[in-house]
Amino acid sequence: MADIKAILKNMKIWRSLKVRLFIIMFLMGSIPSIFVRVGILENYESRAVDVRTSDVQTQLRIIANHLITYNYLQDTSSEVIGAELEQISNLYNGRVLIINGNLKVVKDTYAISEGKTIISEEVIRCMKGINTVNYDAVNGFIEITIPIVETVSAQMATAEVPEGTEVVRGVMLTSVSTDSIVNTMELLNRKALIVEIIMVFCIFAIALILAQILIKPFDRVSKAISEVKEGYTDDPISVPDYLETEHIVDSFNSLLERMKALDDSRKEFVANVSHELKTPITSVKVLADSLLAQQDVPAELYHEFMVDIAEEIEREDKIINDLLALVKLDKSAAELNISAININDLTEIILKRLRPIARKKNIEVTLISKREIIAEVDEVKMSLILTNLVENAIKYNREQGKVDVTLDADHQFFTVEVADTGIGIPAESMSQIYERFYRVDKSHSREIGGTGLGLAITRSAVMLHRGSIKVDSVEGEGTTFTLKIPLTRVLL
Ligand code: ADP
Repeated sequence: MADIKAILKNMKIWRSLKVRLFIIMFLMGSIPSIFVRVGILENYESRAVDVRTSDVQTQLRIIANHLITYNYLQDTSSEVIGAELEQISNLYNGRVLIINGNLKVVKDTYAISEGKTIISEEVIRCMKGINTVNYDAVNGFIEITIPIVETVSAQMATAEVPEGTEVVRGVMLTSVSTDSIVNTMELLNRKALIVEIIMVFCIFAIALILAQILIKPFDRVSKAISEVKEGYTDDPISVPDYLETEHIVDSFNSLLERMKALDDSRKEFVANVSHELKTPITSVKVLADSLLAQQDVPAELYHEFMVDIAEEIEREDKIINDLLALVKLDKSAAELNISAININDLTEIILKRLRPIARKKNIEVTLISKREIIAEVDEVKMSLILTNLVENAIKYNREQGKVDVTLDADHQFFTVEVADTGIGIPAESMSQIYERFYRVDKSHSREIGGTGLGLAITRSAVMLHRGSIKVDSVEGEGTTFTLKIPLTRVLL
């Protein structure tokens, strides 16, 4: 059983929406028609039996009155009654028994049971004045009992039985055949069955066509996606037939857009990398060529050019190192080497390392620790983040400027604020500073050894720690970078 279920479940056809739609429509269409047929037939049967019963009861009541009038229970010689009984039994294809007060059969239209005594529940109940009707659907007859009632006249009245009392003198027990009802029902059933079969065929065809039509938009979606996949088109696709297909298509289009954006940024990145790597090499080549072109070059000039060449090579080396750092950060967060680090100590060490550079421009670097911070971070990446920010704050500062590094924490996050009194960042560049190779002032940045990769690296490292980075800057006055990083490691 379980095996069959598993097989059915795995059958591809059941997973088709078209098949499911077809089955649902087919069942919803054909099951009601079966119920309607069965319901109508049953209803007809009970109606027909009721009508037949009440017809017979009316006839019998009339005859019962005649029986009293002709005193038939004592004397069965009346031809009028005999004819009436004959007529009713012929009319309804039935049998009539007339039973007197002693439960003795005085007349049987089949002439079988005359003189016999009948003690049946129905007869006895009828003697008490209760009509009974029994429908025997299996054998195809209705059994009806009618009391033969006499109203006590003035001459017959006694003290116990006053005038006007109705007294049951006997019972008419009748069974009438329901063959004609059964025949009509069979005929009806046959006709209904034919109509039903035709309907089921029509429903089958309609369900098949509808399922085909309803599923069309989904076929269109997959065709449109295939076209994009096979490269015929790059345009966004559109299948607005259903809200559902519109949603699928919208999601696909946004995915497409994202992929295009990724592809564009990859191309741009490759172009930028090539350009950035080429620049120092070109300089080296120009310097070397000019040396080679001259004869008897003085040793000082050689030395000067060689110093320039060494600088360019150093720059190339810096770009390559930054690129490698960036590539490493692009890998997953699982590669973070997390441990509990004292952020105050770490910052102190970094500032110590950078102070000599700051001193060249007479810049004062101050650490303001508002509280002791122990956080679960990757020490190497955290150093990278802090070094880049403080280095920028020094690099883009003025002579005798200031750099304030403020550490603080609440119960969830720690914050690092790096504020400088430097040249600031123009508002229009603010959103681009994290882009790879972006520099506000290319030549200035180059002069002071910037690659345009520092903030891209910083942001990636902050993101890996599930933190955030924010910048506030006023041109000519200074810049403040604020980091907010969870104290404990946040898993996805
Ligand atoms: P770079 O290696 O050129 O410093 P970054 O990615 O670190 O590259 O920074 C990108 C650009 O953002 C820099 O070229 C500079 O123009 C601007 N910038 C970054 N930090 C500061 C700062 N503290 N003050 C002013 N400008 C800054």
